[in-house]
Amino acid sequence: MTVRTGEDYLAGLRDSREVWLGAAQVDIGSHPAFFGSLQGMAGYYDWQLANSEACLVEDPESGQTMNASLIIPKTADDLRRRRLAFETFARYSKGALGRTPDYVNATLAGFVGRRDIFEHLGAQRFADNLKGFYRRVIDRDLALTHAIVHPSIDKSVGDTYGLNGRLSLRVVRRTSNSIVVRGAKVLATLGPFADELFVYPGAPQSHEIDPAYVIAFTTPLAAKGLITLCRDHYGARESGPDAPFSSWFDEQDAVMIFDDVEIPLENVFVDGDVNLYNTLMSDGWNANILQQTCARAAVKLEFLYDICVEIARVTHCEWRPDVMSLLGEIWSFGAMTRSALDAAEAHAEARGPTVMCDERPLRAVRAHMPAWMARAGDAVKMLGAHNLLATPSLAAFDHPRLGPLLHEFLPGAQGVSARDRARLFRIAWDFVGSALAERTELYERFYLGSAPRLFGIDHAIAQSEKPVASSDFGAAMPYKATA
Ligand SMILES: Cc1cc2nc3c(=O)[nH]c(=O)nc-3n(C[C@H](O)[C@H](O)[C@H](O)COP(=O)(O)OP(=O)(O)OC[C@H]3O[C@@H](n4cnc5c(N)ncnc54)[C@H](O)[C@@H]3O)c2cc1C
Repeated sequence: MTVRTGEDYLAGLRDSREVWLGAAQVDIGSHPAFFGSLQGMAGYYDWQLANSEACLVEDPESGQTMNASLIIPKTADDLRRRRLAFETFARYSKGALGRTPDYVNATLAGFVGRRDIFEHLGAQRFADNLKGFYRRVIDRDLALTHAIVHPSIDKSVGDTYGLNGRLSLRVVRRTSNSIVVRGAKVLATLGPFADELFVYPGAPQSHEIDPAYVIAFTTPLAAKGLITLCRDHYGARESGPDAPFSSWFDEQDAVMIFDDVEIPLENVFVDGDVNLYNTLMSDGWNANILQQTCARAAVKLEFLYDICVEIARVTHCEWRPDVMSLLGEIWSFGAMTRSALDAAEAHAEARGPTVMCDERPLRAVRAHMPAWMARAGDAVKMLGAHNLLATPSLAAFDHPRLGPLLHEFLPGAQGVSARDRARLFRIAWDFVGSALAERTELYERFYLGSAPRLFGIDHAIAQSEKPVASSDFGAAMPYKATA
């Protein structure tokens, strides 16, 4: 099998995974809360088939069809081809889904392409393991999630020290053909709905760290001892068309608890080597994954702009200078994101045997993204105002008593029908105001690390590339500043 249908994907989830929702262990396939989300994810697989020209490519090794996010870019054209796929995948949910399989696929393909890092550091067998994993993902069209963050509860010490050291994932035992790991990881988006969980370096570690914490591996969700602890579910399937995003796109975050989970050695990619761990992240990961995240963000920001424009039209306020200014501001977020992608691809550069985007434009917009997403959501609320809640259920339009009254008293301005007006405001509210939307705003703030942390990293990188020195001032100024 290569590319799967939605039905294939759902069938693949029927296994012995240990998933907890609230205080109960649940079977994800039959639990009513998850029905909409699973259908939504199955829809992603059907979408890639329906949009095969953009989403699928030929696997150069087997000649079979594969998800285009698994391309190992060798040329700038490969990057452009891959972006087409990222954007097409994002359109499936208007960017609402963050952890569609193309996200982790891109990271995996990026690591596999950097075989040179493994060779350079004498870690050939781990490169082979990673390649084996990559082949499995292609051949079975797997849905991966990742959990790369230690549950650092005590912020006064490092991730693997003090209280945190007892929580963080580490090797606690070894057998002749496996490592046994114990600890927790946060926060696996798609946790219960993925086929495998990819654990890889989240942040550089110091050379003093206990090597037991320095690990990367993959594990099936059904591995014995692996507990998927779901947050409350925010899906609202019963609302159907009244909640078009919450009904299908709660991608369900989960804490992953490893209660002595055995990882066969062939699924281990880093085992105690800090250099390998750090280099994998620092040499190209950003350049690689940020193309996916910015492509999704562009689609989402453009959709938010479209919603704002349509609300202004339906309430006939698009002529007001304050509204025009707000609309232009929201438009600029999508345009800047798209420009960053264009620049990053135009200045693509060799990274080992692969070609990656120039990461600078992508890093520059990445740290602004949480604020842009929040601001665009705010704009929808400011423009929509009471209309966001004065919106009947779409089914109410078919009611013989209520329907005619709704048409009479709740029409849109400028000839927009009451039903179209209701549909717009329901989409808008579900996208920015529902329980799932609140969760998604938190996702946008943190899924790649918080903005303050990212700005700090960007500054550190900028100074490592071109430090500011006192000698840059004074004599070199193009004008005579003072006598
Ligand atoms: C909904 C959601 C889904 C997620 N999905 C995943 C996933 O699938 N896989 C995964 O691995 N991770 C995922 N994450 C990310 C992960 O769980 C963490 O949220 C992320 O790494 C940030 O860590 P933190 O939450 O401890 O916040 P912190 O990094 O501690 O940030 C909290 C606040 O502290 C301040 N701060 C912290 N550090 C600095 C600094 N260095 N400089 C300045 N200020 C600082 C900032 O004001 C920041 O807002 C997800 C997060 C969320 C919210």
